[in-house]
Amino acid sequence: MKVGIYTLGCKVNTYESEYIKNLFTKKGYIISDYEDICDIYIINTCTVTNNSDNKSMKIIRQAIKRNKDACIVAMGCFIEANKNLSIEGVNILIGNKDKSKIVEYVEEYLKTKENIIKLYSNLDNEFENMEINAFESHARAFIKVQDGCENFCTYCIIPYVRGKCRSKPFDLVIKEAKELVLSGHKELVLTGIHTGNYGRDLDKEINLYSLLKELVKIDNLKLIRISSIEITELTDEIIELIKNEKIIADHLHIPLQAGTDEILKLMNRKYDTNYYKEKISLIRKIRPNISITTDVIVGFPGETDELFDQTYNFCKEIKFSKIHVFPYSVRTGTPAAKFKNQVPNNIKKNRAKKLIELSEILEKEYLTSFIDKKLEVLIETSNTDFSTGHTSNFIQVKINEQIKRKELIEIEIVKEEYPYAIAKRV
Ligand code: SF4
Repeated sequence: MKVGIYTLGCKVNTYESEYIKNLFTKKGYIISDYEDICDIYIINTCTVTNNSDNKSMKIIRQAIKRNKDACIVAMGCFIEANKNLSIEGVNILIGNKDKSKIVEYVEEYLKTKENIIKLYSNLDNEFENMEINAFESHARAFIKVQDGCENFCTYCIIPYVRGKCRSKPFDLVIKEAKELVLSGHKELVLTGIHTGNYGRDLDKEINLYSLLKELVKIDNLKLIRISSIEITELTDEIIELIKNEKIIADHLHIPLQAGTDEILKLMNRKYDTNYYKEKISLIRKIRPNISITTDVIVGFPGETDELFDQTYNFCKEIKFSKIHVFPYSVRTGTPAAKFKNQVPNNIKKNRAKKLIELSEILEKEYLTSFIDKKLEVLIETSNTDFSTGHTSNFIQVKINEQIKRKELIEIEIVKEEYPYAIAKRV
């Protein structure tokens, strides 16, 4: 039987979908292209913005239309956030619990043809364990080390749909990491909903620092990337480790969200702009050329033109090497949805455009500063004409020759051809 899987949203979803692919493969199912006519469709949804909701619904409807006789499974954050939603044609509904039982549910449905709904009023306090030994779809392997968030930023629905912070047991992370390296992965990306919070629910001595300290010792592992980390979680110990261990990628994704203290406070973020700036200069002292990327929300309720300009100038001053820009999206059930002074959509759109333009300028500047420099690149895609991949500092590189996927090679950057850096092998 053919299974088609579509994944929306973040790296945690990517990890979970990969895990699900492995579960089906082990049971003899064939993983097929989602565009094909399949017997089973699985849509791993996202609800972080209104756009994610719309896209999740669109993909579910597409699957129902493509093969009305197929078993359709809708799972993940959008389903968890809309427990009362009934979508005609969907046979199995799973939220953010019991994803590891998906094959069982599909087989039960195929036998009985009775729809299955597995939605609970509360998510578990325990980490739902998943383990991947080989990550087929990506050259760099993700490891989900953590789930849940208790930060309750006022705009964000995620703490309500992902539940409390819970971590994968320390030994299991190390075991999984070793297996992924044995299967040929040279780079690992630590992912979670709130990765920096790793270990807070485990033993006292376990945290992201102790995990990184153990991971850097793994033989043949060349690069460890943290998918995203809050500025407040970059402790002195972690910064010291980054200083001493070149195996930790020259790239940190540190969400800023707003460049003014007024909006940060309204967002219930746990830092101010001074704190953010000082930490960044500390990091740049130990890694002067590090790539720092970020997320910024524009048009948050109460953001005046002046406050937006402050955010714009702050981003310019920090010199991010990329800004992921999100126009504020009202999420029902969050405090910010009820805030006064909501910003009209056309203004949000203009501000997003302006910040995306700034991001492009900064990206090109960062990239250009590496021309004639030698770097290592992990090859992710390859065809007869060219290969592409990312460097440790997350520059997207294109080389005009065919190189085997997952190879880590040395290159020299020749010129900028946005969004790529054109490089030659050395
Ligand atoms: S840290 Fe804030 S933005 Fe991130 S998932 Fe938690 S509540 Fe949402």
